[in-house]
Amino acid sequence: TRRLDDRVVIVTGGARGLGAAYVRGLHGAGARVVVADLLEDEGRVLASELGERARFEPLDVTDDAAWARVVAATVQAWGGVDVLVNNAGIANAGPLEHYTRAKWDAVIAVNLTGTFLGCQAVVPVMRDAGGGSIVNISSVEGLRGSEGLHGYVAAKFGVRGLTKSIAVELGRAGIRANSVHPGWVDTAMTTRIDPSRLPIPLGRGGRPDDLVGAVVFLASDDSAYMTGAEIVVDGGMTA
Ligand code: NAD
Repeated sequence: TRRLDDRVVIVTGGARGLGAAYVRGLHGAGARVVVADLLEDEGRVLASELGERARFEPLDVTDDAAWARVVAATVQAWGGVDVLVNNAGIANAGPLEHYTRAKWDAVIAVNLTGTFLGCQAVVPVMRDAGGGSIVNISSVEGLRGSEGLHGYVAAKFGVRGLTKSIAVELGRAGIRANSVHPGWVDTAMTTRIDPSRLPIPLGRGGRPDDLVGAVVFLASDDSAYMTGAEIVVDGGMTA
């Protein structure tokens, strides 16, 4: 048996980038995986490539009605939700004086409010089942400041804090919540940053597969005594 046999997992932003790597890794560990994303074409292609233990659900993480629909459809299809990976995210940047209200609102809405809404949507189902694991994707930008990334940093610190308040409140319900903090990883989000210019002790930028082990571990019972914890996967960038 594999680590996640029979577990039902929802991965937001699962259609591409890091989310798609989590989907493949969790599926490979035996899980039944819901790819939940705005990107319908990419999400459907990935789910159909993986086969019967994968489904695509259209989801805008900022839409609470859409969350209710995705959770209900998952319970209907597979009987519950054991793991939620809140991975969907966007980034934007600019000097503070030029950092518009629209930029701020957009990054807070997706990265922070979207994570909050996801946790709220799955907790009743997890509670009824006697527990579950929530894996919230923060960033190294949720650990320290970063020039120009005002809303992104605020949202990622927020995700880290929200994770801890959920861990404290819901531990006795068997629900664990932990955060993952990637450094620079090669995806569509980071194409404009050259990793060779970053102070990375391991001497290279990250690849999406570099993050999969931490997410599978937090999803699984191997991390049964961990909640409210942070796993940093950054090649040593913040060491
Ligand atoms: P990406 O842009 O390749 O993927 C993001 C995914 O989220 C896309 O599939 C997108 O469609 C989806 N998404 C965006 N808004 C959404 C919404 N409102 N509802 C549903 N889905 C939505 O980026 P990525 O690099 O794979 O990032 C994934 C996560 O990892 C993000 O939370 C990001 O902040 C975090 N992260 C990335 C890096 C990095 O270096 N790439 C580093 C630290 C943290």
